[in-house]
Amino acid sequence: MEKNPGNLQQNQLATPGTRVLIREVGPRDGLQNEKLFLPAQIKMELIKRLADAGISAIEATSFVSPRAVPQLCDAEAVLEGMGELAPGVVLSALVGNAAGVQRALGVRQPALRDIVVVVSASEAHNQANLKRSVTESLSGLDDIRRLAAGRFMVRGAVATAFGCPSQGWISSGDVFRVVDSMMEAGIKEITLADTAGMGEPEQVENLVGGVRERYPGITLALHLHDTRGRGMENARAGVEAGVKVMESSVGGLGGCPFLHGAVGNVSTGKLVGMLHGIGVETGIDLQRLSQCVRFLEEVLDRRLGG
Ligand code: ZN
Repeated sequence: MEKNPGNLQQNQLATPGTRVLIREVGPRDGLQNEKLFLPAQIKMELIKRLADAGISAIEATSFVSPRAVPQLCDAEAVLEGMGELAPGVVLSALVGNAAGVQRALGVRQPALRDIVVVVSASEAHNQANLKRSVTESLSGLDDIRRLAAGRFMVRGAVATAFGCPSQGWISSGDVFRVVDSMMEAGIKEITLADTAGMGEPEQVENLVGGVRERYPGITLALHLHDTRGRGMENARAGVEAGVKVMESSVGGLGGCPFLHGAVGNVSTGKLVGMLHGIGVETGIDLQRLSQCVRFLEEVLDRRLGG
């Protein structure tokens, strides 16, 4: 499954000890696109196995309308049913508005520590995904932060930051507009998401550089899709530009149900293999991770990538 790191010695990029946090988004971004409904027990098993493979950050589910995303209608049952996870494992859940935070507040799961609020850089995608304008979404950020205060860390995700199939080109100004509002609302960790997999390495380098320059001290994450097969190059460009948190999905599951043809997140196994190959540590056991892929392949009855 993985490239031999020995072949990549000449490409050694990182100084020893460089570490990137991998946030696994398969249980949320991956599964939300699967037509086959998986029972809560299977979802819990998947999350536990991912944690056992050494993944310490897992986006477990989302608190959005069950009509919009039927696969994740069992968010509460999955989070509560898992019981206690290994110390150090942080679960997150995605929300689109304050109602999502209210649901998260009702859940008994100590490992659920992060809430992710998503706003698109693209007006068209925000309307399709969240049924509201970008301005409306941004004006709701204060409420979300206030509700979550004392219980959850709120992270922000900028969807379609590298291009939108409906709107086309997304300018850095479109991205900054969203990040500005998130920072004003006191959000300190931002994910730039290539929701439709339209990004290119140079664009990743420029946007990451631009955001880091504009917001010194920001914790920046990259969420990449492999729609056009450039996910791995984009990931490498991001890490070289200083990103320390990468989001990926076990077996390359994923896509966005509101974007036709947006297939697969970057595969966690490929990403970890690439990072280890250039001397970046992740703490993830690739053998155990490939067992997670096989588990999912059995459950979904099809082959996965990565
Ligand atoms: Zn995604």
